[in-house]
Amino acid sequence: MQPRAADTRDRMYEVSDAMNVQKVNYQKELDRILKQLEKEHETPSLLLHSCCAPCSSYVLEYLSEYFRITVFYYNPNIYPESEYTKRILEQQNLIRDMKLRSPVSFLAGKYDKERFYAMAEGMEDLKEGGARCMKCYELRLRETAAQAAAGGFDYFTTTLSISPLKNAQKLNEIGTRLGEEYGVEYLLSDFKKKNGYKRSIELSKEYGLYRQDYCGCEFSMRERKI
Ligand code: SF4
Repeated sequence: MQPRAADTRDRMYEVSDAMNVQKVNYQKELDRILKQLEKEHETPSLLLHSCCAPCSSYVLEYLSEYFRITVFYYNPNIYPESEYTKRILEQQNLIRDMKLRSPVSFLAGKYDKERFYAMAEGMEDLKEGGARCMKCYELRLRETAAQAAAGGFDYFTTTLSISPLKNAQKLNEIGTRLGEEYGVEYLLSDFKKKNGYKRSIELSKEYGLYRQDYCGCEFSMRERKI
């Protein structure tokens, strides 16, 4: 695989330098990468961090055309433990049942809740979308990057950007930075684009998936109840 991180980073910085606030269209970046892979007849390996089965459904349908995917389930943020168990089982069932272009593997990360609580300390009362969430993205992406590097994957990314409540700009910035740190390419993406979120709802219905009504941590659960 030819390294492309520097090109992408330069383009991202050009845009933000020029406008200072202009957002990057990460779906266009993904389109460009996929086009290039098709041209080169490459099917690289991808470690795909997944937050839950519904969010992964569209991403698996979309990316299994282009990558050899391993789903990495690393979500120490999820509360309570019964919810964690429910979500991870749903994820495994989906991978087993989905009709995909190429087989998808599964890798479970540790449910190290202490790590999440240590990270969130002092930010418990912040609203969803604030600083705690940026750290939560980083916690999960850092572990994914480390696993991707250890496993010799070509790329890593996350399903998180499919949610309209998640900040795709920040996810891509964090992912790109961690990719450079660990020496693995972060696959730029914004899966909510191209009706990705809508398609994930359709697929969830088709496969009868459990769709939770809060992000995952106990603070988001509390916020939902207010
Ligand atoms: S609201 Fe979601 S993203 Fe934010 S800290 Fe909680 S689990 Fe993580």
